[in-house]
Amino acid sequence: MEPKKVTLKKLHEVIEALQEGSEEPIGNYFYKGFRIQISKYRSSGTERYMRLYRKRRENGYCVRCGAKVTRKNPKTGKLYRLCEFHREITDRKS
Ligand SMILES: [Zn+2]
Repeated sequence: MEPKKVTLKKLHEVIEALQEGSEEPIGNYFYKGFRIQISKYRSSGTERYMRLYRKRRENGYCVRCGAKVTRKNPKTGKLYRLCEFHREITDRKS
């Protein structure tokens, strides 16, 4: 990824966002001939999985395979967590 050319003001904003614990500033920056890389250090597999899970859940995709979920749970009125296929194999197990 090409680094983004930034001003000192922008770098301050990046640092402020980091102080707040935001992951927004992750990326590459270019400032006065320096490349500044902001990345997550040793992000665990669990953390990565949780992020993926949340993202899929928020956007209405099956948390297992990422397929678009179209059916809603009649009880809650919300989209199911799983696609038809995964809902079926999960229900059968329990
Ligand atoms: Zn699925």
